[in-house]
Amino acid sequence: MANIRLDKYLADMQVGTRSQVKEQIRKKLVSVNGVTVTKPDVKVDTDRDKIMVGSDIIGYTQFEYFMLNKPKGVLSAANDPKAQTVVDLITDNICRDLFPVGRLDKDTEGLMLITNDGELAHKLLSPRKHVDKSYYVRFEGIIADNTVESFAKGIDINIAKCADDEVDNNPKEIYHTKPAKLRLMSADEAVITISEGKFHQIKRMFMAAGCRVTYLKRISMGTLQLDFDLKPGQYRRLTDSETDNLR
Ligand code: URA
Repeated sequence: MANIRLDKYLADMQVGTRSQVKEQIRKKLVSVNGVTVTKPDVKVDTDRDKIMVGSDIIGYTQFEYFMLNKPKGVLSAANDPKAQTVVDLITDNICRDLFPVGRLDKDTEGLMLITNDGELAHKLLSPRKHVDKSYYVRFEGIIADNTVESFAKGIDINIAKCADDEVDNNPKEIYHTKPAKLRLMSADEAVITISEGKFHQIKRMFMAAGCRVTYLKRISMGTLQLDFDLKPGQYRRLTDSETDNLR
């Protein structure tokens, strides 16, 4: 339950901008529990009050959760003046201020959680929570027999920042990764699970092992698994149990 201003309620539900909804309220188009209201700052209960604009009932949705299969070439950001972002791909949201939970490189595909729930995002991203993220990887190069073991112990990678989608292998800033689980599926395919999210981490781990990642797709984040029915660019809302399990 939350008590919020009527104009915020309506603007949150994208009935209009804050000034547009104020105007609608002043024009006596808005009612609360059947009573016409003229003050935009009147407080309403998001769970209990019945808000109508004309003959339309406007329900309140506080949070929304979408699972996107991020395609290549799209930026993991809420908005960008030039590039298409993962949030731009969500077209039927009710709430404003959606953002992606964490980042994937521009050329990485797969599971991206998009929400406006900052508390859940913080929980999933907090380094102290160690939420596991699994990725399907295709790579070039011969992977040494001891790589599974060295990833399990943690390896040194260069985490110096460089342009997106480039991996600069000059050792400038060395970081010892936390234990990661590597499951080799063939000579050039693997599934890797990491519990942190350093910049280009997986590409850099494979580079440290003498290989180059040619394709990367996130397949899970904590309890949330990518729905393989979603083609790149497609999304769906999380089910209630998927959301509950993440909390
Ligand atoms: N590791 C990477 O190298 N890239 C990603 O997009 C995610 C993890």
